Amino acid sequence: MSKFQIITFGCQMNKADSERVASVFNQLDCTPTDDSAVADYIVVNACSVRQTAIDRIWGMAKGFTKMKKLRPLKVILTGCVLEEDKKKFAKIFDLVFNIQEIKKLYDFLQQGFVETDYLNIRPEYSTPYHAYVPIMTGCNNFCSYCVVPYVRGREKSRSVKSVLLEVKDLIASGCKEIHLLGQNVNSYDPVDKEVFSTENPYQNNFAKLLWEINQLAGDFRLNFSAAHPKDMTDDVINALALPKQMNYLHLALQSGDDEILKAMNRKYTTDDYYKIIEKIRKVKPDIAIGTDIIVGFPGETEEQFQHTVDFYKKVRFDIIYHAMYSPRAGTVASKMEDNVSQTEKKRRWRILQTLMEEMTLEINQKYLGKKVQVLIDIVSNEGLPSTRAERVVLGNSAEMKRVRIFNRGYGIGQVVEVVIAEPQLWLLISH
Ligand code: SF4
Repeated sequence: MSKFQIITFGCQMNKADSERVASVFNQLDCTPTDDSAVADYIVVNACSVRQTAIDRIWGMAKGFTKMKKLRPLKVILTGCVLEEDKKKFAKIFDLVFNIQEIKKLYDFLQQGFVETDYLNIRPEYSTPYHAYVPIMTGCNNFCSYCVVPYVRGREKSRSVKSVLLEVKDLIASGCKEIHLLGQNVNSYDPVDKEVFSTENPYQNNFAKLLWEINQLAGDFRLNFSAAHPKDMTDDVINALALPKQMNYLHLALQSGDDEILKAMNRKYTTDDYYKIIEKIRKVKPDIAIGTDIIVGFPGETEEQFQHTVDFYKKVRFDIIYHAMYSPRAGTVASKMEDNVSQTEKKRRWRILQTLMEEMTLEINQKYLGKKVQVLIDIVSNEGLPSTRAERVVLGNSAEMKRVRIFNRGYGIGQVVEVVIAEPQLWLLISH
């Protein structure tokens, strides 16, 4: 029996795509492996958001060339790759294809059955209790630093029917957390809007989809990413209060300075963003909010960076994923002068890191003595003195806080309610 290995770089969307590619190989009766030395097929699912990921693929490609001399190995490349990189990789890889052109993979594997819309392929989920469900791909926003619209193309939404089918199957199989995915998830615009129920109270299509899923019976919770502030309509904000919604929202800010936001082509001001946060907190006062911030964008002055620091303090985010700007070929920003030194970018990154750590620790104190609902994903004795035979379990709360629970008989995939006895920076502890 043939073996296949999938090596995935990048975001949750790429991970979800890899689950669909795995399903195509499984239809061929191939078995998965993590060992490149025994694989008959190696699929690399690439990410171009950072140059380092592409550099790593070049490093791996040298190894593939050597392996191919020793055995009949086939190497395949998919994912987010710029056209110019694809042409270069085509000299080493046996097949280079866009995930949307999944038929090319079926043809390459000489597989009779063909599902032309790759989103309709039933994926091989990595876990039975948590699933990523892509509802749209591509992006029309063209943020000036981002390569996604060039490698993923324009926005294309999956049909309501297909999304609901997958979600219902997941609920029936006992999945406890469903995470809707899209590069710009809240601009969801399906072709089959007539599938939405007539009693659906919303006008916005994404809010409508959230409502439909919330009506489904079952013991599960619902989350989504990545939402764009410009598409956070009142309907979407109100839908955050629906009963199955998790108590967490990730809403990328990128900068707290209006001139930088304009140069980034983000299509909102800090004032717009803050108004959205205020509305969200009215609808769902305890919601945890995370964001993305880029430091050292071309031309970012010390004063402009300070605006980001001030805005961060004003919003009081629960978590940030902050990155130092690096140019990506083909983007508008790559033509701007990358004039903030690496040392300065690192300094700004550290300032935000320190600020986040102080603020998150402070925010987490509100969980002391409170009940949170945790989906267990790890059972371990790790970190305990060998004299303590207690079990430790870990999981995420509905606020996406990591929770460690001592001395209970809970198992992986179970949702439990626990009281927090010790709120720390990155962990809420329940004794
Ligand atoms: S919204 Fe902007 S950052 Fe997000 S995928 Fe689209 S272009 Fe990239």
